[in-house]
Amino acid sequence: MAAPESTLPELAVNRRLTVLPLQEYYTSGHRTCQGCESALVMRYLAKVAGPRTLITGTTGCMYVANTSYNSTPWALPWAHTQLGAAGSSALGTAAALEALMRKGKIPRERINVIAFCSDGGGGDMGLSAISAAIQDTRYNLLILLYDNESYANTDIQASGMTPWGAVTAFTPSGSAKRITHHRWKKNVPALLMAGHPQGRYFASASSGFGMDLMEKVRTALDVGGPTFVQTHDPCPKGWDYDPRRSHDLAVLAVECGITVLWDCLEGELRYQGITRQIVEGRLRRKPVAEYLRTQGRFAHFTDEDVDYFQSQIDEMWERWILPGVVRVTQTPFGTLPRPSTSPEAGQSDEAEVVVAGEVSRG
Ligand code: SF4
Ligand code: MG
Repeated sequence: MAAPESTLPELAVNRRLTVLPLQEYYTSGHRTCQGCESALVMRYLAKVAGPRTLITGTTGCMYVANTSYNSTPWALPWAHTQLGAAGSSALGTAAALEALMRKGKIPRERINVIAFCSDGGGGDMGLSAISAAIQDTRYNLLILLYDNESYANTDIQASGMTPWGAVTAFTPSGSAKRITHHRWKKNVPALLMAGHPQGRYFASASSGFGMDLMEKVRTALDVGGPTFVQTHDPCPKGWDYDPRRSHDLAVLAVECGITVLWDCLEGELRYQGITRQIVEGRLRRKPVAEYLRTQGRFAHFTDEDVDYFQSQIDEMWERWILPGVVRVTQTPFGTLPRPSTSPEAGQSDEAEVVVAGEVSRG
């Protein structure tokens, strides 16, 4: 079947999002925790997608806390789907819309199809369905993974995207074993980008940079085809910090190089904002200690634990072929040139990686 012709209408915002619409499509009526950044991500997502949008949401905080009996913040058509079903629900919804349009049962127009999932639902259980959806180039769909680094809705169990060493309900710290979570965080957007060459658009964003996040959602919806965006969202309940610090922690994660702002449009990798400055050697990464020491889930860390965490982040930036994105440190062709991440070095003439895009703090 041929891909449906793009009929994307003018969206509610202009190309660079310099004028945002006043309308909200994720409004009052939710029951997320105070300081919940994932709720903010839903608001950004709905605002930029606009009214011609269908959303499916898998089980998780953004399902349960947003659909209490007789109460919902969604001012868009929204449906719950199973925990691992973001990919299949997005694909099925997009295919059903196309069939209805082809049969003339509804007018042919561009309707945004978005499925959101959590790190547990998308990064663990639903990864295969997301892979299948991104492989299928016939339909336009966006899968948004909101990453709060645990199974937050069921009382903070470790997921494949929980950071090394963090305390969760499954990984407590005790006197016999201080560290019980030994897995390094799964790198889902890079995994999907590398394994799905026909995917149109992949991005890693942060709740702390709203304009960048909305630009990425808009780009995904605009380019069409199968697309994927991940956001990094501080969760006061699961991470154990004062809710007032949510935004600061999201920004700090980027400043430390733990969260990496990048996207890949039609095979072109780009870095944004603070991440771009780090890649270009114009900004020094902050030490991860400040980020770790302000969260209760890392309160058991010794100085050696902090040093180990820092060493892993350093390796991401100093040895990976695509800093912070793809871990290849040697190839049959030798070490390929890439931008220096040394602030003293300035911008490297050898840079092979495209860096583009600026970010405003949201
Ligand atoms: Fe948000 Fe975390 Fe509360 Fe869930 S547990 S509603 S993700 S702050
Ligand atoms: Mg989660």
